[in-house]
Amino acid sequence: MEPKDCSPGKLFIIATPIGNLNDFSHRAENALNNCDLVACEDTRVTAKLLSHYSIKKSLVSYRDENEKKQAKILTSEIMHGKNIALVSDAGFPTISDPGFRLVRECHLKSIQVVPVPGPNAALTALSASGLPTHQFLFLGFLPKKKLGVSKLLEQWREFEGSLIVYESRYKIERTLALILSTYGPGRFICIARELTKLHESIISGPASQVIEKFHQGSAKGEFTLVIGPANYSFNYKDE
Ligand code: SAM
Repeated sequence: MEPKDCSPGKLFIIATPIGNLNDFSHRAENALNNCDLVACEDTRVTAKLLSHYSIKKSLVSYRDENEKKQAKILTSEIMHGKNIALVSDAGFPTISDPGFRLVRECHLKSIQVVPVPGPNAALTALSASGLPTHQFLFLGFLPKKKLGVSKLLEQWREFEGSLIVYESRYKIERTLALILSTYGPGRFICIARELTKLHESIISGPASQVIEKFHQGSAKGEFTLVIGPANYSFNYKDE
């Protein structure tokens, strides 16, 4: 059921493209068209997306800095019958993006939460990595300090599935060096850069080779890293 038929209001969690605008689903477009208000991270970014689809809606800012206050205000509006759509700048709202507090507040107030799924960088990278997908751990953004990153990598050294990490272009070099020194050159990793965009690149294999190839290309753009479990390789003869 889409927002127009819903009473009282609902919260729609709407995933948006992580690069390629063609990845925006029909259901997401309908949900945005039918909602009363769009809560978004950066109104300029969302205004562009809406304009691409000729959708005219009121936008309200919902970001880390005003999340607590806005969660109360928005849920009160939903209680009064409004259907609100939550979007982030790219990908799935609430996943390393604002939204969790709003969703929690909805559950506290028995407001229906309707997910409208779509693109997500972590799962897109994992699916294309060639690394194990049966079990994985999403670590989001790594700690700011080097020591924190080292401790986290140590903590998950023996994890039997794949680790997924979001990394910025400014820290990618440092993180790759830490992965290499902590897990060794033979650990299988994947660097997924600019997924779904013009300069998409997905490099997978032993850390030393992947990092060497990475240094031959551009270090600009958005990155998601996948780290395979210890003793994993592409040699599947023993499976
Ligand atoms: N909520 C988003 C999602 O569902 O994927 C993630 C938002 S988080 C603030 C942004 C981070 O996701 C980037 O710094 C990068 O690590 C990763 N990311 C987003 N888009 C990407 C892309 N097109 N290619 C690779 N990684 C991407």
